[in-house]
Amino acid sequence: MQDKLCPKCKKIKPRSKFWKDRRRADGLQSYCISCQKNRYKTEDYRSWQRDRTLSPVHKQALNAARFANKRAKEYGINRKISVHAVLAVWERDKACLKCGGGLGLDHVVPLSRGGLNILENLQTLCSKCNSSKMQKIRDYRERQTTPLS
Ligand SMILES: [Zn+2]
Ligand SMILES: [Zn+2]
Repeated sequence: MQDKLCPKCKKIKPRSKFWKDRRRADGLQSYCISCQKNRYKTEDYRSWQRDRTLSPVHKQALNAARFANKRAKEYGINRKISVHAVLAVWERDKACLKCGGGLGLDHVVPLSRGGLNILENLQTLCSKCNSSKMQKIRDYRERQTTPLS
């Protein structure tokens, strides 16, 4: 049984000071237990753990919501949309309303033109169609037959 170097605290510790991890070559986690515990405490790690367990669409929705909220903040809008709102919009629209392509989020009335960061002002546009829409107000949802309940 060899001792093992923890790259975090730079200390050489006995193998018993490391948690087991069967996916790794030596069967142990790279950081020692006390470093791992510190790591679990940090918010970054917690949100990383949370993100990691989400489905790809859920992750994409999370990023879209974060991006929308960041942009809204730039326009002085503090109201935030949730990841669930984004998922609801995508559930309703299924795909980009203009080209039928990928998912993406668009404010029907752009934030720069006083649009609100709310569910009712959102539609699904892929990034390509979104960037060609620019600052125009265009509601592609009119084509939809089922309104959002
Ligand atoms: Zn350590
Ligand atoms: Zn599109």
